[in-house]
Amino acid sequence: MTKVALLKCDDYDENLLAQTIINGLTKIGFDFAQFKNARVGLKPNLLTAAKPEKAVTTHYSFFKAVARIVTEHGGTPVLTECHGYGSFAAVLKSTGYADVVRELGMEVGKMDDVAHLHYPQAKLIKKIEISKAFFDLDMIINLPKFKTHGFTYISGAVKNLFGTIPGLRKAGMHMRIPDPVNFSEWLLDLNGALINCFDKPKKIIHIMDAIVGMEGEGPGASGTPKKIGAIIIGNDPVAVDYVAASVARLDYKKCPTIELGFKRDFAASAPEDISVIGQTIEALRVKNYQPTKSSLSSHILRGWLVGPTAKNLFLEKPMPEADRCTLCYKCKTVCPAQAIADARQNKKVPDYDYRKCIRCYCCIEFCPEAAIALKKGKLQWLPGF
Ligand code: SF4
Ligand code: SF4
Repeated sequence: MTKVALLKCDDYDENLLAQTIINGLTKIGFDFAQFKNARVGLKPNLLTAAKPEKAVTTHYSFFKAVARIVTEHGGTPVLTECHGYGSFAAVLKSTGYADVVRELGMEVGKMDDVAHLHYPQAKLIKKIEISKAFFDLDMIINLPKFKTHGFTYISGAVKNLFGTIPGLRKAGMHMRIPDPVNFSEWLLDLNGALINCFDKPKKIIHIMDAIVGMEGEGPGASGTPKKIGAIIIGNDPVAVDYVAASVARLDYKKCPTIELGFKRDFAASAPEDISVIGQTIEALRVKNYQPTKSSLSSHILRGWLVGPTAKNLFLEKPMPEADRCTLCYKCKTVCPAQAIADARQNKKVPDYDYRKCIRCYCCIEFCPEAAIALKKGKLQWLPGF
């Protein structure tokens, strides 16, 4: 059985966080002596420069509580995050992390250099490029934020490790693997490589910030913060995500990283293999948690929607809205398919080419104004679509 600790935690009070996280680590049998003299990489979700209350990023107090626990047990915490877009200094400032790093005198990993992991059991890509900074650690603590996600249905422990890959290489992976099911298989390859393939194996723990999560059109500014009141801790990223999805009453079968994750040898093989300790899922279940409107990851034609015509007929398209758009063009900068051009004359929104668009929804993820809506495809009115 895979142990997952599910703990009630209603706010970001630093003492409460520290007590609850120590309690959870103890429940899964973690030996705190492992921190002694260890370089411990803390990998939060710092998607973009957003204020903490927007729930786009792992809360800075959550990160700080874990950093303090590591330090108090003789380890050296290092902030290791390949963020999504823009200046990292601006991201640290907006999210509250700059003050934490300064107060604790923390090292911030240099993430741009790349090294390879070779994973013979990978389903899609055996050679996986990640930031070299992860090679210099003794242990990794993954600190995901629980959010809905237009491309992979949820963003949790499995997805958060996408941020081990530097900058624009992430966009390159969207172009290389444009459908969400195969992309999720590849995310599981990445997780498997991190677990199995360092020359000196590293302990990886997942401590999820599900105190305030995100619902609706996550994972960026278009999503809506939603109180969950939970911290979820485990050694198995798929099991941690399953418990989080269940607390939010989201169907794990619509989430390929969980559904396919149960088939991987580094994860639990079914919900029945997960032992939830602490609170029960039923005790912390949230009412009316809104999933993403995107049908992409669970579409009945998924795997067949490869051509632009099929996409335009059967999938939601990203549609910028003039009343919110400021023409900042962040969407154009992040689009891996170069499907977005400057606004045409007399138009107030960027010009989208839906034949080029691969429906990765990165533009929605990074639009700071929440100005991009999902519009149904031309035949999505048909029953079952
Ligand atoms: S849609 Fe959003 S990201 Fe794109 S230009 Fe408008 S405000 Fe900026
Ligand atoms: S237009 Fe948006 S959804 Fe389409 S490929 Fe570009 S970033 Fe992805």
